[in-house]
Amino acid sequence: MQEHIRTCGPITVEQAQKLALYHHEFGYYVHNNVIGSGGDFITAPEISQLFGEMLAFWCIAQWQEVGCPESLHLIELGPGRGTLMHDILRIGERQQGFLESLTVSCVEICPSLLIQQMQTLEEYPFVCWYKSLNEVPAGADFTIVLANEFFDTLPIRQFVGGQERQIRYTDMENTLIFSPPGNPNSIKESCPMAEEIMKIALEQLSPGVGLIIDYGDDTPPESRFGDTLQAVFQHKPVKVLESLGFADLSHQVDFHSLRRLCPNHRFQPQGNFLLKLGIEQRLEKLMAIATAEQKFSLTTGATRLVSPTEMGQKFKVLEIFKR
Ligand code: SAH
Repeated sequence: MQEHIRTCGPITVEQAQKLALYHHEFGYYVHNNVIGSGGDFITAPEISQLFGEMLAFWCIAQWQEVGCPESLHLIELGPGRGTLMHDILRIGERQQGFLESLTVSCVEICPSLLIQQMQTLEEYPFVCWYKSLNEVPAGADFTIVLANEFFDTLPIRQFVGGQERQIRYTDMENTLIFSPPGNPNSIKESCPMAEEIMKIALEQLSPGVGLIIDYGDDTPPESRFGDTLQAVFQHKPVKVLESLGFADLSHQVDFHSLRRLCPNHRFQPQGNFLLKLGIEQRLEKLMAIATAEQKFSLTTGATRLVSPTEMGQKFKVLEIFKR
């Protein structure tokens, strides 16, 4: 990446992120082992089966609420290793009529994750894959769009005093720098790709419901300042400019902007959402039949997902209703 910017000249933070994530030669998603203990970061469905099970209960409840329509389309944006979808379908199997009504579309850009998803979900022949939400056919009786830790990975623009922040190469230090450097408190961010995808998702919900879960905040634009771009490599934070193409890049999702696009919606922290769906009751049931080792991983997993000092407060849930 450094060589590319040195030869081609400065590029915006957004362009740099697009190259660092998706470029066929040096894109992070093209070459790396991204998720899981052997990858760079871990996500809620990988922490505990309880997460996918709660989302399965949510999907089934939504489908029942509209009278169990015969054609149900479940779309997942960025399914990672396919764990969340697998947990949803495993629970869905127990609900009469649910799987029979279902088509599943996975939207995935990363070739190695796509292969993992195909392996994880091979027992379900009704799952299809697409590179972008634009390509996913519409037309089911009811559509559910799910996105867990998807929006935080999309490239952002940054502005310092109205000027777009770029990344450029400096000969003197033989390194990449941000230009203008910007004081972290003076930086404003926007994520055009998130808004674009959100609009397409809303069109897909005709009728339908959406569920977006991510770390982020609901701060209105007047008071939303700061550089939230971060890089993570093998579970540790690293410097963004030193790790372009090698590390996972993410930012705090601006839920305020996404909510403005949604008609009827509910917004709450992940902890509340999972508690209301009955995560404690489900945990109790599983504990009754678990081995000592499983008990440990079930309780630590549930605590991580729900506790306000862990993911319970930092992660937010946006439910969108177009029924
Ligand atoms: N939802 C999963 C994975 C989250 S990581 C989980 O919770 O475990 C982000 C996922 O989005 C990965 O699968 C990544 O490859 C995918 N992704 C990132 N940008 C994308 C894009 N522009 N289009 C499609 N998929 C994308």
